[in-house]
Amino acid sequence: MRVAVSACLLGAPVRYDGGAKPCPEVLELAEKVEVVRVCPETASGLPVPRPPAEQRDGRVFLSDGRDVTAEFARGADLSLAAVRRSPVSLAVLKAKSPSCGVGLVYDGTYTGRLVAGQGVFAERLAREGICVVTEDIVRECKPSVEHPVAIVLGSGLGHLGS
Ligand code: SF4
Repeated sequence: MRVAVSACLLGAPVRYDGGAKPCPEVLELAEKVEVVRVCPETASGLPVPRPPAEQRDGRVFLSDGRDVTAEFARGADLSLAAVRRSPVSLAVLKAKSPSCGVGLVYDGTYTGRLVAGQGVFAERLAREGICVVTEDIVRECKPSVEHPVAIVLGSGLGHLGS
């Protein structure tokens, strides 16, 4: 089984603040499957570190006011192309991110408030029919050999893409 995973969840220091968000449960899952590592923001050429970004009115802005909608779209397209070259059954993406968030994203005020929504990349994957979940869903699933399949079947968020 092949799974796309946000690079920061695997420990890659690609986040806006130069850090990572390694998730033990995701790392455990990654040992059992073939991983397609993705980071749409760095794929777009945005630097590390960079100001934090949030979505607002259908666009994406850095906290310094720069409109990076085009960069986010390019990074999402490049990462989607990587996934199409190596089709996945599941994507485990970083919660709340303006690129990778699933179901909830920050509201554009940089105050920590969340609103219903999808990250730019997560939205593209979902449109492809790929089951898209966050690390929170992986944490809720007990580690087992069937772990990846349990996530897909238990999420109720999508269907098998391959
Ligand atoms: Fe992590 Fe996704 Fe942000 Fe890259 S774009 S740092 S993978 S949340």
